[in-house]
Amino acid sequence: MHDLSKAMAHFNVLKDGLDQSPILTFNQFLQEAAANPQRVVRDVYQIYGDMINTFVDDGYDEYGNDPESIQFLKYDCSRLFVEGSDRPFFADRLFSNRLIRHAESFKVGAKQNKIYIFEGPHGSGKSTFLNNLLRKFEEYANSPEGRRFEVVWRLKHDSSEKGASDHLNDLKKKLVRVLVNEGQNALVQELENGCLEEIDPGGYFNVPCPSHDHPLLLVPKDIRRKFFDDLFEDGEFKWQLFTEKKYEWLFHDEPCTICVSLFEELLKKIKDPFKVMECIHARPYSFNRRLGEGVSVFNPGDKPLSKTVMTNPNIQRSLDGLFCGQNPVSYVYSRYAKTNNGIYALMDIKSHNSDRLMELHNIISDGVHKVEDTEEKVTSLLFALMNPEDKKLLSDLHAFTDRIEYINIPYVLDLQTEVEIYRENFGKHIDESFLPRVLHNFARVIIATRLRTQSEAMQSWIRTPEKYQLYCDTNLQLLKMEIYTGYIPEWLSEDDVNNFTAKKRQKIIAESEGDGWKGFSGRDSIRLFNEFYSMYAGEDKLIDMSMLGTFFRKYCKLDPDILPKGFLDSLLRMHNFTVLQEVKESLYYYNEEQIAKDIINYVFAVNFEPDTVEFCEFTREKLEITESFFRRFEGRVQIDEAAAKGFRSSVQKAYTTNALPQEMLRDGRKISDTSLFKTLHEKYVYNLKEKVLEPFMKNENFRRAIKDYDLEGFKTYDKRIQSDVTFMIENLQHKFRYSRQGAKEICIYVVDNNLARIFSNT
Ligand SMILES: [Zn+2]
Repeated sequence: MHDLSKAMAHFNVLKDGLDQSPILTFNQFLQEAAANPQRVVRDVYQIYGDMINTFVDDGYDEYGNDPESIQFLKYDCSRLFVEGSDRPFFADRLFSNRLIRHAESFKVGAKQNKIYIFEGPHGSGKSTFLNNLLRKFEEYANSPEGRRFEVVWRLKHDSSEKGASDHLNDLKKKLVRVLVNEGQNALVQELENGCLEEIDPGGYFNVPCPSHDHPLLLVPKDIRRKFFDDLFEDGEFKWQLFTEKKYEWLFHDEPCTICVSLFEELLKKIKDPFKVMECIHARPYSFNRRLGEGVSVFNPGDKPLSKTVMTNPNIQRSLDGLFCGQNPVSYVYSRYAKTNNGIYALMDIKSHNSDRLMELHNIISDGVHKVEDTEEKVTSLLFALMNPEDKKLLSDLHAFTDRIEYINIPYVLDLQTEVEIYRENFGKHIDESFLPRVLHNFARVIIATRLRTQSEAMQSWIRTPEKYQLYCDTNLQLLKMEIYTGYIPEWLSEDDVNNFTAKKRQKIIAESEGDGWKGFSGRDSIRLFNEFYSMYAGEDKLIDMSMLGTFFRKYCKLDPDILPKGFLDSLLRMHNFTVLQEVKESLYYYNEEQIAKDIINYVFAVNFEPDTVEFCEFTREKLEITESFFRRFEGRVQIDEAAAKGFRSSVQKAYTTNALPQEMLRDGRKISDTSLFKTLHEKYVYNLKEKVLEPFMKNENFRRAIKDYDLEGFKTYDKRIQSDVTFMIENLQHKFRYSRQGAKEICIYVVDNNLARIFSNT
């Protein structure tokens, strides 16, 4: 066999015309392949994986440094399923992880001749999912980033055939003239556009490969290794090409029977491989779901085609003419050829689609199928959707489980996603009608109906769920929901957090495959939300937990099994606990960084007289040093007014005699490493924990001041209470995104329900 590379090199000069010309010569195509190998050399599995990568960014791990992480990541699938879609699909965290794993399996080169069945209950959004996925696939595959090439043969008519085509063209011109005179412009247009297009005035005709073969497959198999070694530059791509499983197709696959026989017949006729290669051209593989090119979707009601074998009489006539009737190449192919190297999808396995599934299974088991006398190979990405009850009906299905891979697509189990769905359906403004967390709690109730009550995985992690009864249900469903959203709650004990090993996490996530098959469907939840929202959203009062409780208790009466017993009570307790934490944190700064700043600012400020403004050189904060500035800090370390002056001067003394000259200047320590700081820190934290809720429990004035906040009477309270209440309400707004009204309502809620006392031992 000749070395083609030298001869091919001459085609370099043609490179300039690439972008203008939709059809490339084989050599132009090779130039393109050599220049962009990663893009040009891809099969449908790689394209699919690249498409997912393009629209979904790398996953995000909220606990990046966690050594027990199992890479259960947050993926933003909105560009894939939401943007630009009339009917968006929301992938929850569990499903998006599953989908990404599925796409990644192709990169590794897992066994690919399988049918991927997305199985989920009614109302889980399966068809919306598949429609959006295919729409994006089509968009990507037709874009420059996703473009691939397919074989099109450009052949010269034999002379008699050319005569015929010239004759036809003459006729066409005459016909056009007549029609123009008659004013039949529409017909003229039709003639110009479609009719006779296969007849080329230069005497050529095109034979597209009906199987959309990749042009590189036309390089004879026995020279491919050497050929690619010369074609591609040494480097990362070439290394991958020769070593990675995902490129094996390029060495193993054969072109379709039509291309193979055309190649052989031309070689016999022309007797020059270079001349034969010149007949091979490449054009972009263009995907069109509506025409079934590259992407085909079948509904159960789509009747089987009456004609299972496709032909093209014009092309066949030209081919027969070319080969003078000897060993003619038969241009016949099946419906499957049109989605070779593309996606073939079945919406719901029932009715005619059950038959299609069986047929597909037989095809992929054998790898090829017969079209009249010839064998056709099918390499498509095969997708199907299925409801669980159809699985039971298909008794034969279990017989070919090795060819089927199921990907579960149950109801949404991640509350963030569930809330996103409400926002999408009812508008982002719905948040404004709710007190913080109540909207998410609505989603928690919906999700609870979808979870199985017993969870072995959760029980093996937390053996005594009762210890969390203040913030979680005994079945640990509320905790499980948090895990499903990728969140590890702070109320877990240190032991349980340490015990939350990768193995336990795997087990919980694996168990999620069995959740989401019952309870309120996606459609139900939208209906319920609509009912709830129109009943309670009003201008005067934000939607709170009691409204939520009333609403769902009504449903529990109708169907006592819809929620586990006591779930709504547990949800309320968890809500109360969380709210109280927020109020606690808002009443006093609680975080370490802020505590350190408070202490350092105080230590710095005691060196100045009240009613000055100073810039703290350690925290870089501007301090308004006033009597109440001092008192706020002193109050928190339990120094009463009488002892305040003495305390202040003792701190100043400790600072100027020990901390500053010795520990800091002499020993080079930071202010936060001095013994003065440590003593104050200990006092501060101890008192914070002990006393934070005291005003709520003991100080009747404080409680009344909350209710009077924003009212005229508020000004009559003493300055300290006014400042604490204002401080708390402002913090609730800044830190926890309460509205002003919401912040006040939640404080009153804490007071009215006596939450401070209920949770006083936590
Ligand atoms: Zn072909």
